[in-house]
Amino acid sequence: MIIKNVRILGGEPVDIRTDGGMIAEIGPGLSGPEEVDGGGAIALPGLVDLHTHLREPGREDAETVQTGTQSAARGGYTAVHAMANTSPVADTAGVVEQVWRLGREFGHCDVHPVGAVTVGLEGRQLAELGAMADSAARVRVFSDDGRCVDDAVLMRRALEYVKAFDGVVAQHAQEPRLTEGAQMNEGVVSGRLGLTGWPAVAEEAIIARDCLLAAHVGSRLHVCHVSTAGSVEIIRWAKSKGWNITAEVTPHHLLLTDDLVESSPVGAYNPIYKVNPPLRTRADVEALRAALADGTIDIVATDHAPHPVEDKESEWSAAAMGMIGLETALSVVQEAMVETGLLDWAGVARRMSVVPARIGRLAGQGQPLEAGAPANITLYDPSARTRVDPSAFASKSRNTPYEGMTLPGRVVATFLRGRPTVLEGKLV
Ligand SMILES: [Zn+2]
Repeated sequence: MIIKNVRILGGEPVDIRTDGGMIAEIGPGLSGPEEVDGGGAIALPGLVDLHTHLREPGREDAETVQTGTQSAARGGYTAVHAMANTSPVADTAGVVEQVWRLGREFGHCDVHPVGAVTVGLEGRQLAELGAMADSAARVRVFSDDGRCVDDAVLMRRALEYVKAFDGVVAQHAQEPRLTEGAQMNEGVVSGRLGLTGWPAVAEEAIIARDCLLAAHVGSRLHVCHVSTAGSVEIIRWAKSKGWNITAEVTPHHLLLTDDLVESSPVGAYNPIYKVNPPLRTRADVEALRAALADGTIDIVATDHAPHPVEDKESEWSAAAMGMIGLETALSVVQEAMVETGLLDWAGVARRMSVVPARIGRLAGQGQPLEAGAPANITLYDPSARTRVDPSAFASKSRNTPYEGMTLPGRVVATFLRGRPTVLEGKLV
């Protein structure tokens, strides 16, 4: 297949010939029997998400491997890591292999299961990390995401254990006692609204402890969804020591702030803005953008968290936490990072494809677009303007905070090993 007229990382227009799932040739004036017109779109290496909730097995009313990966493909992703907080929890070789097989059978992108750190995510006993690593799913990323591994001894042991197979522990940093009953960011707005605050220190204390533990053990730590300026400072300090620490930020923490809980186009106390970790302040958003630009935060990860309407459309205190994000991630990153001049398209490709693939140890993803690389390609038109319409999403859930907003850019096409999964913005 020839993909005509694309601009790799925003460069000069070229054509790409794919063959047998690989990029065979790049150059001007290529032609062949099967051609796709790129229309001058930007070509990026297929996006890789380190943090997706696919909800299967157990909550197929919210999302399935099929709908979640369709959503991913529409967002330009060619691989996702599926978080372990399913039902049953992905804490054994059997469950991670089940998710991996579902991905092979129904996936519109590659599905890499994340293994739980502790049995049942209960924080009491280490799960079978080695068995999951040795399984057909070849798990390299381990996380109790949704919950924090708050026991320092267990966290230390997990960090020690994953060294044997070059794994990484991805921590959801939330000190549980400091966040009991917490409903939103602790600050001026929570004070005015009378909602229990979620202090920044509850995140920062765990990140500081885990950086020290990872350094002590000599292991790899990944920090999930960094949300505060203080967390950025701690990670910057830990990296300055040369410690093996990586971190992610979500698109929503790069764009949205906690005052939306008080006043927004959809009114006050709208649970669409309820998320874990919570939306923070404008100063935090600015610090996160600067950290993503200077590399202190390595990657963007969606934390795509689908919930059915009945779990989300209730009073604030009862509503589930989380937002979907796969189909809007690239547009939000364009708005927050590219339109502001903080990142160019090469920088976006590093943070949304190259580095997440490296952290997850995915050999066949996140490769630069050149001859001999796997033909995992996202075509993106940054000049488009799209009014976000959740009814058009492939996700089974609708809990997006961007409904009705006009965002820049549009994923035109996605290719997984040369095979189109999305063409002209539509699933193939
Ligand atoms: Zn989390």
